[in-house]
Amino acid sequence: MAEHNFDVVILGGGSGGYAAALRSAQLGLSVALIERDKLGGTCLHRGCIPTKALLHSAEVADVTRDAAAFGISATLNGVDMPAVNKYRDGIVDRLFKGLTGLVSSKAISVVAGEGKLVAPKTISVNGDNYTGKNVVLATGSYSRTLPGLEIGGRVITSEQALQLDFVPTKAIVLGGGVIGVEFASIWKSFGTDVTIIEGLPTLVPNEDASVSKALERAYRKRGINFKTGVRFSGVQQSATGVVVSLENGETFDAELLLVAVGRGPNATGLGYEENGIKMDRGYVLTNDRLETSVPGVYAAGDIVPGLQLAHRGFQQGIFIAEEIAGLKPVSIDENGIPKVTYSEPEIASVGLTEAKAAEKFGAENISSYEYNLGGNGKSQILGTAGFVKLIRQNNGPIVGIHMIGSRVGEQIGEAQLIVNWEAFPEDVASLVHAHPTMNEALGEAHLALAGKPLHAHA
Ligand SMILES: Cc1cc2nc3c(=O)[nH]c(=O)nc-3n(C[C@H](O)[C@H](O)[C@H](O)COP(=O)(O)OP(=O)(O)OC[C@H]3O[C@@H](n4cnc5c(N)ncnc54)[C@H](O)[C@@H]3O)c2cc1C
Repeated sequence: MAEHNFDVVILGGGSGGYAAALRSAQLGLSVALIERDKLGGTCLHRGCIPTKALLHSAEVADVTRDAAAFGISATLNGVDMPAVNKYRDGIVDRLFKGLTGLVSSKAISVVAGEGKLVAPKTISVNGDNYTGKNVVLATGSYSRTLPGLEIGGRVITSEQALQLDFVPTKAIVLGGGVIGVEFASIWKSFGTDVTIIEGLPTLVPNEDASVSKALERAYRKRGINFKTGVRFSGVQQSATGVVVSLENGETFDAELLLVAVGRGPNATGLGYEENGIKMDRGYVLTNDRLETSVPGVYAAGDIVPGLQLAHRGFQQGIFIAEEIAGLKPVSIDENGIPKVTYSEPEIASVGLTEAKAAEKFGAENISSYEYNLGGNGKSQILGTAGFVKLIRQNNGPIVGIHMIGSRVGEQIGEAQLIVNWEAFPEDVASLVHAHPTMNEALGEAHLALAGKPLHAHA
């Protein structure tokens, strides 16, 4: 058994882990990065990137199908799933090569194998011990299911859904959160008859209520079926399909059931608790410096309670490296983390929903404004509907921005600066937004909230 010593030993080479490794190496720290599968983790191989590639193919299918509306004659002859998958894999492979090259160009020792914490600051891999002055736990998450709902056969999670080499004719998606509505969007564009089942009263229940309503309207228009406020009770599989039953007695048949009920932390059986790390319902608890209950042991990414997003993991990884290096970085404000759902239409938001803002500041102390994309030239050109909604503290800054419409995800950059820099609508109203862009809608909304609307009917 060999003993290895580093300034930083990182368990898990996904978004959180590799960001911590890269920043630590930049800061001159010696780093071991332990990964049992592929660098890049869920986001690169089974999450963000492959799903967004499929969503782009889905957009191409929609544009082709609707080409006549733009005066172009084209026919959608079909969806060649093996070719779609090849396009997707090409993107993942290129990014994976890039990441591997980046990591190997730095002073980072990548250790391949399954690691386990065997002492508070020692991780054992393939019989060797890696001890760090500091340790970063970043072991990510897995697709959850419901009690008694076994994954297998025609009951699949996002991992298997990404591997399908055919387009299902009929599918049921259990869960109307981000992953569920994204797959429903992809499949509908590819020609599947889709039904979403969501136990809570609305689709995307974590978004502002008006956004949830608008997505439901858009999905109804697209012919995506959904049932909300009703719980799943069971599924029966046969050789040809599934029959899903709900607690209200309704049943639905389909070729496949995609279970998209959230992701659980991959943090048990890895020696964390045994080595004194405080956990809660499987998650690793940290303070606002991302340090666990064991000094010098940090955690990043999906194992830490909060938003399970790749860019949060990146930022946490960078933060931890800087903390270890003594740079005293500013704590990450979870409320300022932007969120994008890449369905058609897209949803992008940052900051407080109207309900949360009312709870925090009092309903009488906030104002909101919805700028309808009907007044935005570029949205009309693209043929999309939706809005930009702003929430401000009266005589104070913007505290929440919520957008829905095709491509609004690309507007989140400015939105997150506005919320995180606590800009007033009057500040943003004095800045010029290029015409005709969808970004202009963000400018128009601020003009209106600052009391000087331009292309606004309400
Ligand atoms: C379908 C889907 C779509 C998504 N889309 C988006 C999106 O568009 N945008 C976004 O921001 N987020 C998205 N996410 C979420 C995003 O993928 C995660 O938030 C992110 O990957 C979390 O990073 P992480 O470092 O915590 O974990 P992971 O990326 O899961 O990395 C953990 C790594 O640790 C390794 N590991 C685990 N245990 C061990 C061990 N014992 N020894 C060695 N290695 C180990 C794993 O192999 C893995 O590589 C999506 C997720 C899914 C499933």
